Amino acid sequence: MKKIVIASNNKHKIKEFRDIIKNYEILSLEDIGYHDEIEENGKTFRENALIKAKTIQEFLKEKKLDYIVLADDSGLCVDSLGGEPGIYSARYSGVYGDSQANRDKLLEKLKDKDRSAYFVCTIIVYYPDDTYKTFVGKTYGEITKEELGNKDFGYDCIFYSNDLNKTFGEATEEEKNSVSHRGRAIYELLKEL
Ligand code: IMP
Repeated sequence: MKKIVIASNNKHKIKEFRDIIKNYEILSLEDIGYHDEIEENGKTFRENALIKAKTIQEFLKEKKLDYIVLADDSGLCVDSLGGEPGIYSARYSGVYGDSQANRDKLLEKLKDKDRSAYFVCTIIVYYPDDTYKTFVGKTYGEITKEELGNKDFGYDCIFYSNDLNKTFGEATEEEKNSVSHRGRAIYELLKEL
């Protein structure tokens, strides 16, 4: 079976890709023995995905491994805040991965502002011959005034989905995947693979 390396160690992401992409063996960075931190210093989701994809493809080439690499970058964009938190979604409050602090900051900034928002996910498929393709998925909604549902992941409990008529925090995994930015980008990607 052909192999695809996901340029991430996030277990949720790896599982999501594994559940959907059935005709390839899906490997994580741990599986290929890559343990370094990749500095995501791009200015856009696409640049950051490309940095990750290229870094891992170079690593594979040094090891003479002929695998495809998939890298994704995603985040939440609020129109009235000029697209914030955007590429800073994971560290909006200043502390990487502190979802509660990130949400608190966003709710505070949105007090008297329009609450329209969207999630975006960019996926890059990077081949061993250094060609690559980009896939983008978006999903639209509003930022709620209070947290509703599961608080485990990022902005889920304050993102009211226009498609589901509830927050992502209140949705089942299946419901969310059927309309989410990542689900939509992966759906486009499947047509390529
Ligand atoms: P990543 O690029 O997929 O790691 O996402 C960056 C950050 O965006 C995450 O740490 C979350 O704060 C936020 N984010 C991305 N996708 C979602 C989602 O589906 N729900 C909630 N937050 C998300």
